[in-house]
Amino acid sequence: MIEASADPARSPESRLRSTREVLAPWVAGAGLLAAGATLWVLRTTETISADLDAFAAWCGTTLPGLPVFLKGYYEAAVGTFLNPVFFVALITVLALERVIPAKAGQRILSVGLAQDFLWVGLDGVMRLALIPVYAALLKAVYDRYLGWLTLDVVKAWPTPAALVASFLVIDLLAWAHHFVRHKISVFWYFHTIHHSQPEMNLFTDLRVHLAERIIALSLTFIPLSMLQIGMPTDLYIALALNWYTRVYHANLRTNYGVLKHVLVTPQSHRIHHSIEPRHQDKNFGVIFTVWDRLFGTLYPHYDEYPETGIADSRFPLEQHRGLMGVFRSLAAQFYYPFRLLLGRRTEGPT
Ligand SMILES: [Zn+2]
Ligand SMILES: [Zn+2]
Repeated sequence: MIEASADPARSPESRLRSTREVLAPWVAGAGLLAAGATLWVLRTTETISADLDAFAAWCGTTLPGLPVFLKGYYEAAVGTFLNPVFFVALITVLALERVIPAKAGQRILSVGLAQDFLWVGLDGVMRLALIPVYAALLKAVYDRYLGWLTLDVVKAWPTPAALVASFLVIDLLAWAHHFVRHKISVFWYFHTIHHSQPEMNLFTDLRVHLAERIIALSLTFIPLSMLQIGMPTDLYIALALNWYTRVYHANLRTNYGVLKHVLVTPQSHRIHHSIEPRHQDKNFGVIFTVWDRLFGTLYPHYDEYPETGIADSRFPLEQHRGLMGVFRSLAAQFYYPFRLLLGRRTEGPT
C-alpha cells in the first residue's frame, strides 16, 4: 500500500493526466466525425446551406443602403458563424481545451478569447473592404509591367502534381513572409499584435493587423503570379486549412505524436508564440515543418509548453471585461504599431 502510494507514476495527478491523455483522442475523433457528418449532410442535402444563403441574401437586401463590401461581410459572417461546421469544430476544440490544456487554469471563455473574437470581426471587415482593391491594383501593375515574368511550368504538370507543388510553394512563401515579418522591425511592429496574446485560443489565429495582410500580399504576389498559383478554392480544402491553423493556436497540450516531425502542431506553434528569449524566432512554419528544418529555425524539443505573449509592458493588453473595455483595447491595439513607428521617428534611428 505504502509503496504504491509513494510511486509518483500512480499519484492522483498523474492518473488524472493519463486519463485525460486517453480521453483526448476520443474527444477529437468524435468532433472530427461530427464535423465530417455535418459537412456531408450539408453537401448532400444542401438544405441548411440553402437556408443560410437565403438568410444572407435577406441580410443584404433588407439593408439596401449598405456598401457592397458590407453586404459581402454579412454574407461571409452568416456563412461562417451560422454554419453548423463552425459550431461543431468550436465545441470540440473548447472541450479539448478542458481535457488537455497547455496552460492549466486558463478560462475557456477568457478575456483573451473575447478580444480575439473582436479581432476576427475587424479583420473580416477590413479584409473584405480593402484587400480585393489592393489585390486588383497589384494585378494591374503586374500585368502591365511584369507579365513577361509569368511561367506556366506548374500549370503544365498533371493535376495532382500541380496541386502538391502549388501547396508546397504557398507554404514556403508563407514561411518566408512570416520570417521577414519577424526580421524587419517595421513589419514586426504590426506582427506583435498576433504575438501579444498570453491566453492563446483558436481565434488568436485571426488576431492580425490589417497592415500584416497588406505586407503578406505584397511579398507573395509576384512569385504567386509568376507561377500562376492561387489559394485552394475547394470547400473541403479551404475549411481544413482554416481549421488547421486555428486549432494550433488553441490552448492544447499536444504535439500530434509522430506527425510532429512533419506538421506544425499546437506545441510547436506555442514555442513560436513563447515569451521566453530562448524560443524567439523559432518555428515560423504554417503547415509543414520542413522549411524550419531546412533553414535552421526549428526548435528541437517537442515537450515544452511555455507562457506566451510579448515582453513589452507598454502593450495595451486586454485586461478589462465588458463591452466597452474590449472595444477600447481593440482600438489601442490597432494603434499600437503606429505608436511605435512615431516613437521611432521622434527618437531617431538607433
Ligand atoms: Zn510570428
Ligand atoms: Zn500564431
